[in-house]
Amino acid sequence: MEQKIQNEPLPLRSRLTPIEIERIRADFPILEQVIDGNRLIYLDNAATTQKPRVVINAISDYYRKYNANIHRGLHYLSERATEMYEHTREHAARFLGGVDPSEVIFTRGTTEAINLVAYTWGEQNIREGDEIVITEMEHHANLVPWVQLAKRKHAVLKRIPITPDGYLDLTNINEIITPRTKLLAISHMSNVLGTINHVADLAAKAHEHGAVVLADGAQAAPHLAVDVKALGVDFYALSSHKMLGPTGVGILYGRRDLLQEMPPFNLGGEMIREVRFDNVTWADLPYKFEGGTPNIADVVAFDAALHYLEEIGMDRLRQHEMDLTRYTIEQLSAIPGIEIQGPKEVEQRGGAISFTDADLHPHDISTYLDAKGIAIRAGHHCAQPLMRVLGKIATARASIYVYNNEADINALIKALRGMRRYFGL
Ligand code: PLP
Repeated sequence: MEQKIQNEPLPLRSRLTPIEIERIRADFPILEQVIDGNRLIYLDNAATTQKPRVVINAISDYYRKYNANIHRGLHYLSERATEMYEHTREHAARFLGGVDPSEVIFTRGTTEAINLVAYTWGEQNIREGDEIVITEMEHHANLVPWVQLAKRKHAVLKRIPITPDGYLDLTNINEIITPRTKLLAISHMSNVLGTINHVADLAAKAHEHGAVVLADGAQAAPHLAVDVKALGVDFYALSSHKMLGPTGVGILYGRRDLLQEMPPFNLGGEMIREVRFDNVTWADLPYKFEGGTPNIADVVAFDAALHYLEEIGMDRLRQHEMDLTRYTIEQLSAIPGIEIQGPKEVEQRGGAISFTDADLHPHDISTYLDAKGIAIRAGHHCAQPLMRVLGKIATARASIYVYNNEADINALIKALRGMRRYFGL
C-alpha cells in the first residue's frame, strides 16, 4: 500500500503574494504586540491559532445584539441566535465537503468529539476480543479514549507503527487491519511529525473488513481542504480554535446511519423528544447529541473563521504553508546539532515541525526563544507513546499558519543560531 500523497503544487500565480500575507497579518491584532522590546513571532499554531478581527468582532457583536438561548425561545433574539447557530452548522457541513447538516454535531473540541464516539458508539459496539486499530503517532485525544475503552471491554488495541522518517509503516498492514478490526482511529495529520496520513486508503482497507473509521482532523482541517466523503471516514473530529475560530467549539461529523443508532452522550435539556418519569425518547439528529445550552457565541463566531479561511482559499493557504515549511526545514537543517522529526517532503506533511538539539533540552530552547519574543512549544505534545517510539523525552516544535512569513522563520533561525553561540556550542 502506497503511503505517499500526490499533491500537485499550484502555479505560482495561485500563491499568496507577500502583499496578501501582509494584509492577512494586519487582520490579527495580537500580532502587533511587542513583548519586552521584541515583535511577537507566533509559531505555536498547532497548539492554538490567533484570531482575526472578524472573529473577535463576531463574538462581541453576538453579545451586543443577539444574545439569547437558542431553540426554545419564541422571541426575536432567540430566533436570530438560533438562525446564526444553525447557519454555522450548515456552513461547517459545506466546509467538510458537503455533508448533511444533521451529521454535524457541535462539541467543545476534538477531544470531546472523540470521547463522544468512544462513550456511545464504542460502548455499544466494542465487545471482548474485538480489535481497535490506532497509530503510533496519535495525540492523547485519539488514544486515551481507546486505551480505556479497550480496558473496559477487554478488547485489543493494535497500532500501526511508524518508519524512522515519520511515515506510517504499512508493511504489515494486513496483519494489523483484519476481520477482527471494529474501529480504525487515526490522525489525519500528526501534531508532532506533521505527517499527512493516507486516510482514504486506510479507511477503504478498514471498510473491507466492515470496520468503522474515525479520523482525528484537529491538525488537518485547519490546513487542508477536507472532504470527509472523499476520505471515506465515518467520523471526523476537529477543533475551531486551531483554525482561527474561538476556543470551546469543535465538530464531530458522523455518518447519519451510525449517529442514529448511537445512544446520546449528554443527557438533559434540548436532546429529548418526550420525557416521562419512567421513559425518555430522544430528539432527532443532531440535537440528540447536543444536550444543554451550547457555546452559542463561539459557534456563531466560528462561522466568521470559516468564511475567512474560504476567502483565502484552502488551496492557496496550503501552498503558502508548503513553501514556508520547505524554507523552515532547509534553514533548520543547516544549523549544526539540530535534528528534525518527521517527513522532509513538504507534499507529505504540514507545518508542525518538531526538532531537537543534540546539546540542549527542548524546554531550554523554548525559554531562550521566548526571551526573543518567539513562541514555540516544547514537551511531549500530548503524544507520550510517540515520544517513546522516537526515543526522545520531548521535542521543540515550531508550527506555522497562514499569517506566518519568511521574516518569522528568519527570526527563529537567527535566534537558534544565537542560542547555540550563547551556550558556547
Ligand atoms: N488531536 C490532535 C492531533 C491535536 O493536535 C489536538 C490538539 O493539540 C487534539 C486532538 C485535541 O484538540 P482539543 O484540545 O482542541 O480538543
